[in-house]
Amino acid sequence: MNQKLRSIVVQTGIFRVVVLLTSFYIACSITMTWVLQKMMGRSFGWEGVFMAVVVPLLIVPPVVFVNMKLVIGLHDLETRTRKLAAIDSLTDLYNRRAFLEMAVSLMNFGRRNDLVMTVAYIDIDRFKRINDSWGHRVGDRVLESFGHLLTAQIRVSDIVGRIGGEEFAILMTNTDTAGAVGVAEKIRVAAENHAVTTEDGSIHYTVSIGLATSGPEDNESLDDLLARADAALYGAKQSGRNRVMTDLDAESARYFRETTA
Ligand code: GH3
Ligand code: MG
Ligand code: MG
Repeated sequence: MNQKLRSIVVQTGIFRVVVLLTSFYIACSITMTWVLQKMMGRSFGWEGVFMAVVVPLLIVPPVVFVNMKLVIGLHDLETRTRKLAAIDSLTDLYNRRAFLEMAVSLMNFGRRNDLVMTVAYIDIDRFKRINDSWGHRVGDRVLESFGHLLTAQIRVSDIVGRIGGEEFAILMTNTDTAGAVGVAEKIRVAAENHAVTTEDGSIHYTVSIGLATSGPEDNESLDDLLARADAALYGAKQSGRNRVMTDLDAESARYFRETTA
C-alpha cells in the first residue's frame, strides 16, 4: 500500500475502514450471487440474500481489522523514522538537512506574504575548551542544555536547527533586525546565566550570535542570507565573543579595525 493511501486509511480510522470495506464486499457478494443464480436459472430469494450477506459479514471484518492494524503500525513506524531522520538526537532540534529544507520553504512563504525574515547564526564560544577541560560527554550535556534553552526562547512561527557541531541557526518570520536583536539578546543572556550542572561541577558558557535580515523585495537565497549571518557571527567573535552582531555592525567593525590598524 503506498504512503498516500496509508495516510488516508489512518485518517479515516480503523472502525470506518472496516465498515466501508465490509459494506463493499457485501454489495459485491449480493451482486455476484444474484448473477450466478440468474445464470443457473434459479430465483434469487431471501435465502440467497441472507447467504450473500452473512458470508462476507463473518469473514471481512476480522481480516480487514488485522490488516488495518498492520497498516497503522507501519504508518507509525514510518512517521517515527522520518522524525528521527529530521531531528538531532542530542538537542531535539532539527538537524542541518531538515533545517535547510524547512527554511527554504519558510523563506518562500515569507516572500509570497511580504514578510521580513531574519536569520540568527549562533555559535558556542570556546567550546573546544569545554571539551578539553571537562570531556566530550560534558560538552554534549552543554549542547543538549543549550538546545532546550533555544527551544524555550523561540516563537512557534520560527524554526531552529543544529546546523553544525556547536552551531545553531534560527529563521525568524516577520522579524526585522531590531526585533531579532531583542530575541538574540534574550538568548545570549539566558545562556550566560544558565550554568549546566554536572557531577563534576557547574559549567558556564557563552554564545556569539550573528544576524542578517532579508526583505521580500530582496529576493535573496537562503544560502546568501546564512552567509551574511555567518559573516556577522565572525564579526561578533572578532569583537570579543558573548555578543550579538548584525551583518551591518560587523561590516562597520571590520572597516573600523582595518582603518585604525
Ligand atoms: P569559537 O569561540 O571561536 O567558536 O571557539 P570554539 O572552540 O567553540 O570553536 P572550534 O571550532 O575551535 O571548536 C568547536 C569544537 O566543537 C570542536 C569540536 O570537537 C566540538 N564539537 C563538535 N561537535 C561536537 C559534539 O557533538 N559534541 C561535543 N562534545 N563536541 C563537539
Ligand atoms: Mg563553530
Ligand atoms: Mg564555537
